[in-house]
Amino acid sequence: MRIIKAYNLEEGEADKVDRSSGDYFRRNMQLVHTTGAFFPLMLFFTNLSMAVVLYVGGRQTITGAITAGDFVAFVNYLGLLTWPMMAMGWVINLIQRGRASLDRIGTILATPREIREPEKPRLLPEEPLSLSFRSVSFSYPRTKEYALREVSFSVAPGESLGLVGPPGSGKSTLLHLVSRLYDPDQGSVLLGNEDLRKLDLWQLRRLVTNVPQEPFLFSGTIRENITFGDEDVSEKELEKAARKAALWETIRSLQHGLETVVGERGVILSGGQKQRVALARGFLYGGHVLLLDDPVSQVDSQTASSILNNLWLETANRTIVIVSHRLSAVRSADRILVLDQGIVVEEGTHEELLRLEGYYARTWHMQQLEEEIHAL
Ligand code: ADP
Ligand code: MG
Repeated sequence: MRIIKAYNLEEGEADKVDRSSGDYFRRNMQLVHTTGAFFPLMLFFTNLSMAVVLYVGGRQTITGAITAGDFVAFVNYLGLLTWPMMAMGWVINLIQRGRASLDRIGTILATPREIREPEKPRLLPEEPLSLSFRSVSFSYPRTKEYALREVSFSVAPGESLGLVGPPGSGKSTLLHLVSRLYDPDQGSVLLGNEDLRKLDLWQLRRLVTNVPQEPFLFSGTIRENITFGDEDVSEKELEKAARKAALWETIRSLQHGLETVVGERGVILSGGQKQRVALARGFLYGGHVLLLDDPVSQVDSQTASSILNNLWLETANRTIVIVSHRLSAVRSADRILVLDQGIVVEEGTHEELLRLEGYYARTWHMQQLEEEIHAL
């Protein structure tokens, strides 16, 4: 509604609503016409048949072809038949409607799962895990272009990987593959030296925590949004996670604190606040592999650096993959990959990449300059 108002699109949108309501109205009127005609017609034919029976049967009784008893019996039997006949019409109608609905449900139920678990999934040890890609190529369903092409790298347990590159270069896609939201077309993704396709999906998703680029909040309280409604989370743990995500002060400034209702029916949080709620979830549930998709894109640089400091303190028992367009966020990562159009074009530590004088070095210098200008 805000966008429509801001761009003066009310008339066009009202037309669209008018058109669909008109269509809906017409179809309903058709239905009413049909059902409206149905009952009178039915009664008409029942009574017509009665008239025919009276006429023909009456004459035959008069001429003595049948007895009066036969005639009365016939009329009575016919009356008994009328209602079952009508009921049959109803039932056929109901069955047809039901079939249409059943067909729709059937299509959903018959859709095969794209992500399958093996018969006997392997369980990973609950400890920091290594993560590697072996010449992984992937394109989204119904697209021709590769979102990732021949991507290979590996991260040791407890190490961190930074991912940078222009928009659309495949950074988020790479993270989706680690959570096994999709399977690669070629190559394999390995966690703790096991192919993801051999693992227990439930354990995988518990070990791998993904803080997405566009955080989604359920309508509910901030507490429920951070804990996913888990009532076993202690106040202390919750506060710790919120503090790490630089969210605690914000929560305290709200009138209802943690119980503030957000989402469709409550307070609308700003982009940066939503992002920090998602981060707090990540800090609270962080499994042994933590994936962060541009986690500080919508907060100011001071808050960003405090969040990142907290994050780097976590690396001791976690493998971290962090995407960021702000290079200072990935600077301390043990290894950094630069993606372009799904291909790894540069790879190394911060210092090594600066020496390459490629995309990373150029972007780094530009962002340093921007920060200096801001500081003035
Ligand atoms: P980044 O996170 O680096 O900005 P993405 O991984 O989101 O890039 O996207 C990589 C490429 O894949 C882009 O060309 C994008 O258009 C395409 N893409 C992303 N998501 C989908 C999707 N769900 N379906 C089809 N194509 C997609
Ligand atoms: Mg992305």
